[in-house]
Amino acid sequence: MTFNKTLDAIKTYEAGKPIELVVREFGIAPEDVVKLASNENPFGCSPAVQEAVAAILPKMALYPDDSMYALKGALAERFGVGSREIIIGAGSDQVIEFAIHAKAGSRSKILMNSVTFAMYEIYARHVGASVVRTASREHDFDEFYALYLEHRPSIIFICTPNNPTGDAVDAEALTAFLEKIDADTLVVVDGAYMEYTRYKDSAKAVEPSELIGRFPNVLYLGTFSKAYGLGGMRVGYGIAAEPIIEALYKLRPPFNITTLSLEAAAVALGDEAFVQRSIEHNFDQMKRYEAFAQEYGLETIDSYTNFITLCFEPPRSSTDVAEGLLRRGVIVRDLSGYGLNAIRVTIGKPEENDRFFALAAELLD
Ligand code: PMP
Repeated sequence: MTFNKTLDAIKTYEAGKPIELVVREFGIAPEDVVKLASNENPFGCSPAVQEAVAAILPKMALYPDDSMYALKGALAERFGVGSREIIIGAGSDQVIEFAIHAKAGSRSKILMNSVTFAMYEIYARHVGASVVRTASREHDFDEFYALYLEHRPSIIFICTPNNPTGDAVDAEALTAFLEKIDADTLVVVDGAYMEYTRYKDSAKAVEPSELIGRFPNVLYLGTFSKAYGLGGMRVGYGIAAEPIIEALYKLRPPFNITTLSLEAAAVALGDEAFVQRSIEHNFDQMKRYEAFAQEYGLETIDSYTNFITLCFEPPRSSTDVAEGLLRRGVIVRDLSGYGLNAIRVTIGKPEENDRFFALAAELLD
C-alpha cells in the first residue's frame, strides 16, 4: 500500500523504554528495574490527585466537560491570564501538533535548536515543512536571529529549559530576541520543565502572562507530565493571545482530554507544596550526579530540569553505556540519535540514584 509521501521523511519517535520491556527482554524482576529515562516525577503525583480521581470514577460513562471550565479556570488563575487565552491538549505534544498544522505548510520553514525536543521535527514533517537548525548545542539567539533573517521561518521553537540537554535561556535575552521577530512569525516557547527552572534561577524563569501580554505572536507551552507527576494522564496546555488560541481550536478534536485527566490536573495545581518538595528533592539529588560526573571526569550540562546530561569522550560511547545499564535494569536515554555522545538521566529517588551510581561506576571503572 502507498501512503502519504510526507511520511517517507519521518523517523518514528522512540519513547523511553517501559519497565515491562526490560522485564521481558532481560528477565529482570519488575521491582529491580529503575526507569530514569522519561523525566517523570519519581514521587508520582500529589495524594490529593489520587483521591479525587478515585472519587470521580463513577462518572466515566459521561463525556468530559468539553469547555474544560475547571482546569482552564485554575490555569488562568495560576498564570494571571484569561481562560480564552488557554488551550488544553492531550499532553503538550498535541498542542505542538496543533501549532504546526495551524501555521505551517509544505512551503514553510521551521527554525529550531540543533539539539531539541524531537517532536517539533516530526510534526513539521507531517505538513511537509522544512526544518532549519542552528549549529550550537545551546540556544544562541544571535544564531537564531541570523537564521531567521536568512530563512524567514513560519515558526520558531525555543525550548527552555531544553530537552534533552537541560540548559535554559535567560528570560531577558529571550525578550530581547522576541522584540526583533515580526508579528507574523509564531514563536513557540516550550516550558515543559519551567517549574524546575523557576526554582533554580529566577533570571531564567519565563512567565507566560508577561510573554503573551507583550508578544501577540508567542505561544507558551506547559505540561502536567513532569513536575506535577501526571505523565500517564496526558495533559498539557498552550497559553497565547486569543487569535492564536482560536486558530488552534479549529484543529482540536472534541473531548481530547479525559474526565479523569481534567480532574487530576486541576487538583494537582492545587497542591503546590507537593510540587515544591519534589523540585527541592530533585536539585538535592542532582548534586550527587554532578559529584559523580566530576569523579569520573565526565562533562555535564548545567541543568535547570529534572534530568542531567552526562557526556562521554571517545572511545567510550554513550550507546554502550546505556546498553550496559539497561542489561543491569537501569533505563536511561542514549542521546547518540541527537548527535551527542551522551546519556540523559532522569533524577530519581535516592535509592534509584544509588542503583545508577553503583552500576555506572562498575561500567566506567
Ligand atoms: N516538550 C518537551 C520539551 C518535552 O520534553 C516533552 C515531553 N518529553 C513535551 C513537550 C511533551 O510532553 P507531554 O506531551 O507529556 O505534555
